[in-house]
Amino acid sequence: AIVLGIESSCDETSASICIDGEIKSNIIASQAIHANYGGVVPELASRAHQQHIIPTVDQAIQQAKIHKNDIDAVAFTRGPGLLGSLLVGTSFAKAFALSRRIPLIEVNHMQAHILAHFIEEPKPNFPFLCLTVSGGHTQIVLVKDYFDMELLGQTLDDAAGEAFDKTAKILNLPYPGGPLIDKYAKEGNPDAFKLPEPQIADLNFSFSGLKTAILYMVQAQEKINPDFLQENMADVCASVQSRIVSILLNKLKKAANLTGVKDIAIAGGVSANSGLRESLLAMGARYRWNVFIPKFEYCTDNAAMIAIAGYQKFLQKDFVGQDITPLARMHV
Ligand code: ATP
Ligand code: MG
Ligand code: FE
Repeated sequence: AIVLGIESSCDETSASICIDGEIKSNIIASQAIHANYGGVVPELASRAHQQHIIPTVDQAIQQAKIHKNDIDAVAFTRGPGLLGSLLVGTSFAKAFALSRRIPLIEVNHMQAHILAHFIEEPKPNFPFLCLTVSGGHTQIVLVKDYFDMELLGQTLDDAAGEAFDKTAKILNLPYPGGPLIDKYAKEGNPDAFKLPEPQIADLNFSFSGLKTAILYMVQAQEKINPDFLQENMADVCASVQSRIVSILLNKLKKAANLTGVKDIAIAGGVSANSGLRESLLAMGARYRWNVFIPKFEYCTDNAAMIAIAGYQKFLQKDFVGQDITPLARMHV
């Protein structure tokens, strides 16, 4: 079966073709415009999706060397995300399915981040634990089956990606700051600045205290030395990154101990972070976990994860009607 996947939940317009469970194309049009505003501007995102969706889908079809008449089903991100952005992908998918008389499949974006692990070998075995860390979410999920997932813990305030991006803003780095902090951190000393670890007993997370601690630390240092940031960027980034990573991995270790599950995965945009990837590998070796880390292109938003999730739903004949509407909030 040939499934077309459409992703438009935030600021990436993406289309992908999946043939019998194999990804043949994954075209991503990013929106550079938001860098000027220090964050995603919803109205501008919707407009850019509207401009990008047709050429992105055309390119995905071309690169997969198929004809649009060959497509058997269309899967789209129903939510969670920005409603105006979701509406573009949803409306496109509905129109495409209606005009071609093919089934329509709704996909949960947070489930899709996790299901990106089924694009290529090695694939995790059910049940596995997934730490999903992205721009809007931080979750520890017990994945029992493709679409049977239990939320064990989540952030009480900022998401991990938000912690990176908001810290970057304090450090005068452009949006999105996560990849830049990662880059500077490679040259820095992670023990240069002491940052607090929140004391939360269960499997939930909190990152807002860390953000405030960084702000106060930078302000205090700048009173002494106005060039503090320029001179210490690598050390500050390394310290911040190492604290975010330790907060994430300590909870993941706790979840692994509580559940006894040994297949451990990470997913979402922040799983592209090199510090997180390295530390997880080290922790996995130490505790004899089977660790699953997605390829970089399947960490941040992409339609391949929507197409692969859609393919699984296609096999289960899990289709939706034309009355389907997008949802800004959805549970895993
Ligand atoms: P959600 O999936 O929760 O709806 P989103 O789709 O906007 O949110 P993703 O595209 O999955 O999020 O991830 C984007 C986030 O990943 C941003 O916060 C970005 O800073 C962060 N990110 C990307 N690469 C890195 C990196 N190398 N290090 C740290 N953070 C990173
Ligand atoms: Mg994005
Ligand atoms: Fe995402």
